[in-house]
Amino acid sequence: MHELTLARSLVEMAVDYAERNGATRVTRISVRLGVLAGILRSLYFCFEPATKGTRCEGAVLDIEEVPLSVHCGYCQEIKTPRALYNFRCPTCGRPTPKVVTGREMQLVGIELDGGRAAPARGRPAQAPAASAGEPAR
Ligand SMILES: [Zn+2]
Repeated sequence: MHELTLARSLVEMAVDYAERNGATRVTRISVRLGVLAGILRSLYFCFEPATKGTRCEGAVLDIEEVPLSVHCGYCQEIKTPRALYNFRCPTCGRPTPKVVTGREMQLVGIELDGGRAAPARGRPAQAPAASAGEPAR
């Protein structure tokens, strides 16, 4: 349910943005998601239903996954733990509860079609984004 709510609010923001820029369609929504958010996959699943009947229908959801990094107070450095839920410094082994990246959930970009902010394109994308379910890498 949480993912669907998130997907809907993303769509709402994009629709609002499209309206303000006079665009009829949103072609792409880019977000950054920390690995700890743990909702990557379900967000893809929820996105398409959330766009139905909106200006976002057919838009590509572009998710950049942000890896986990923590700050070790002992080493005074930013470290990358060896495992996702292992909040220990890989160097000194001390617990590092201070998460620096990995929790973010950030809307970074909205692409529009036919609006003032829309990038110049040879032809507008007509095909529904059937491949939007998987990250590009
Ligand atoms: Zn350390």
